[in-house]
Amino acid sequence: MIHEPARQALLAQLQPAGVTLVAVSKTKPASDIQAFYDLGQRDFGENYVQELVEKQPALPADIRWHFIGHLQSNKVKYIAAFVHLIHGVDSFKLLQEINKQAAKHDRVIDVLLQRHIAREETKHGMNETELWEFMDYYEAQLDTLRNVRIRGMMGMASFVDDEAQVRAEFSELKASFDSLRKTRFFGKDWFDTLSMGMSGDYQLAVACGSTMVRIGSALFGARG
Ligand SMILES: *Cc1c(COP(=O)(O)O)cnc(C)c1O
Repeated sequence: MIHEPARQALLAQLQPAGVTLVAVSKTKPASDIQAFYDLGQRDFGENYVQELVEKQPALPADIRWHFIGHLQSNKVKYIAAFVHLIHGVDSFKLLQEINKQAAKHDRVIDVLLQRHIAREETKHGMNETELWEFMDYYEAQLDTLRNVRIRGMMGMASFVDDEAQVRAEFSELKASFDSLRKTRFFGKDWFDTLSMGMSGDYQLAVACGSTMVRIGSALFGARG
């Protein structure tokens, strides 16, 4: 079951603001993805390596696959040949592995750095101190990292109804993104992507400066 009216309504809100819609297709069959593809959707997000690896060969080659889940270093090799953007980089070790696997395919893989903004402890991502430590490693080893490109940042807000809380978390992520852009990535035009917002909170995320939203249930229906 796909919800094309929902997609059209989302695009009407997002496109004027220059925000990219990533359709999160995790747990949904390839036929649902194909149906949205036929209507013009090209950006799809998946959380699980195994599932992505099974779906990718069965679907059109020009789909832009976003890996939005927590990626283990030992699984990078399975998606390195085709992945478009890896959203959840939260360790320097993972960045190095992505670089290594991208080099094997003679390509540059775009990534986002994941910041922990939610109150829940289970969510992945770096705090501000870890982020700046990460950047120190990155800059020190820049010459060896020719096959990865840091495009921006990603984060997930708390699952709460408290709008002020969610707004504060998105604002924290936006501030972190802006400060990296103005310092460590000054003059680097490619550092332009802020991935925040899901079905329940994308409007707040866009109001707080998101440039990319990851939407699943509002497009594909609830996950079973
Ligand atoms: C599942 C998931 C989404 C989409 O969630 P919905 O609430 O279904 O829109 C977005 N981002 C991440 C990281 C996810 O795991």
